[in-house]
Amino acid sequence: YLEQTTEVKPLFTQVYNDFKMLHPDFVINFDDDIREGSKVKIYRNHLEQVLVILLDNAFKYSADRKEINFAASTNSALLEVVVQDYGLGIAKKDLKRIFNRFYRVDKARSRKRGGNGLGLSIAKRLIEIYHGSLEVESVVGSGTVFKIELPLIQEAPAEDETSKGE
Ligand code: ATP
Repeated sequence: YLEQTTEVKPLFTQVYNDFKMLHPDFVINFDDDIREGSKVKIYRNHLEQVLVILLDNAFKYSADRKEINFAASTNSALLEVVVQDYGLGIAKKDLKRIFNRFYRVDKARSRKRGGNGLGLSIAKRLIEIYHGSLEVESVVGSGTVFKIELPLIQEAPAEDETSKGE
């Protein structure tokens, strides 16, 4: 698995289309600024699983405002992904524990929404195995932002125009 590569754009387009279909009552703002042909060194199913965990949570823990921002962009070195909701938010004291196995913020409230408290611990471990990072920022009552960074595979630079035919 660890040596596999994934082309970024088709995966994100697929995940976005799946979620749009599954949640027709939500506004999903998909901001795709992914360079054509860019690749990351991660097994496709693993990256998809991480995206599904974050998006599922964004839907589960949204409140009245059924809107999610899903953004992916590439720069010269990194793929950066943002999954943002305008839902319940997470208190500071809980933030550092949500990546722990079986940790759930509010047992009574969360139980209605199902889940075991495993999703985020799996997501974080997967991303870190591939030398990426998964960070969170949240404000109670206003919403939560998860950010993934993964190193892009550096393609050999294209032959310089000026040096051609010399
Ligand atoms: P599952 O194992 O099915 O993923 P889960 O959602 O409870 O269940 P995690 O994904 O690990 O488990 O999340 C842990 C806890 O973090 C959740 O129970 C919830 O309290 C909190 N949480 C996660 N994502 C969000 C979010 N987007 N907004 C608010 N709280 C969140």
